[in-house]
Amino acid sequence: MTKVRFAPSPTGFLHVGNVRTALVNFLFAKKHGGHFLLRIDDTDTARSKAEYEAAIKEDLSWLGITWDSIEHQSQRFDRYKLAADKLAKDDRLYACYETAEELDVQRKMLASRGLPPIYNRAGLKLTDEQKQNYERQGRRPHFRFLLNDEEIVWDDLIRGDTHFKATHMSDPVLIREDGVPVYTLASVVDDGEMAVTRVIRGEDHVSNTAVQIQLYKALGFSVPQFAHMALLKTKEGEMSKRLGGNDIRALRESGVFPMAINSLLARIGTSDAVELFYDMQSLIDSFDFKKFGRAPANYDVAELEKLNEKLLHQLPFAAVKEKLSFADEAFWLAVRANLKTISEAKMWWEILHGDIRAELNHDEREFLRGAAHLLLPAPWDENTYDAWLAAVKPTTARKGKELFMPIRKALTGLEHGPELKKLLPLLGRDKTTKRLSA
Ligand code: GLU
Repeated sequence: MTKVRFAPSPTGFLHVGNVRTALVNFLFAKKHGGHFLLRIDDTDTARSKAEYEAAIKEDLSWLGITWDSIEHQSQRFDRYKLAADKLAKDDRLYACYETAEELDVQRKMLASRGLPPIYNRAGLKLTDEQKQNYERQGRRPHFRFLLNDEEIVWDDLIRGDTHFKATHMSDPVLIREDGVPVYTLASVVDDGEMAVTRVIRGEDHVSNTAVQIQLYKALGFSVPQFAHMALLKTKEGEMSKRLGGNDIRALRESGVFPMAINSLLARIGTSDAVELFYDMQSLIDSFDFKKFGRAPANYDVAELEKLNEKLLHQLPFAAVKEKLSFADEAFWLAVRANLKTISEAKMWWEILHGDIRAELNHDEREFLRGAAHLLLPAPWDENTYDAWLAAVKPTTARKGKELFMPIRKALTGLEHGPELKKLLPLLGRDKTTKRLSA
């Protein structure tokens, strides 16, 4: 069975970059009747926070990205220990005693000679006596995985044939000095034991993949397929600030709706044009993994705003009810097509229900007073405006903008806004009369 995972570290809030990884994994799983695992990468107990995990779940749920199962790395330390024991038994794990400062000096020396920062495997050559000496000095070992020399090759589903020379890489640290296994090992043990079939993640993990492929093999797991997505390129500055930044929570607070975010993130970096999908199922149906390419995916907030606006104009009242507790459905249907963001709805509510100031000249006032006398009796509906205007027209020389702009200004105080035929029934006959004859 197809099984994928999204593996966030709970050390911060989700932003558009990691949500894109989550979404693509989710869409791929759902498209192929597969399993989407949410794996919380919380081996780093000092930096991992329960609040962040809760926020990650809340954000994913809000977006409609649901998981079929959840795992926590912090509850699987015994599994990682067993894996490390196996590697040690097979002579693929060795103790090292260098401090971070010593390693840093070594890297600097290599750099000064124009050499790559590859670890010198000094740990491998230590005698038992030397190790005991270190321990007596109070040093604790960290453990590295011994890479073998063979070339590492995989057919990446996005990048194509990918090659790495193990001899050009450092043996990765798998167990820290405090005994805690690091991501490199934990991730492989989980992918292997949980039978993940495809790992879809960002291009920043390509070199991790190279060493992890040797690890899957050393631990006797079958190697999953890999797909490394080109990283998201965000435009910094004004634009992203307008929506409060690139965190999902900030976008939500600025009134961006889930399907605007999902629609954009599912399409950027693919050969398909960005288009708006109104629900997750249609996005799943249209999803095609083969459309992902190597070109960087450009994330443009202006594009998100455009999608969100389009979505807003179609949203049923039920979808906004919670946010607009003051409003009713008739109001929403009248104003939604004119909103750029949902927060503007409040302004229109206040225009309809509060006091307004209209800038009108003497002639306009006179015209409006006359028109007020011709208002039709209640009840009013969407046809009332046209019927009233038909009665007003023969009594005045005004036409076009000259005719309707004073009406609009008198009724709303503004020169632009929702269609008057929709606003009139919301205002009602009394308030309309009052505003026209003010
Ligand atoms: N916790 C890792 C990260 O957030 C997971 C990477 C992976 O998908 O293997 O970068």
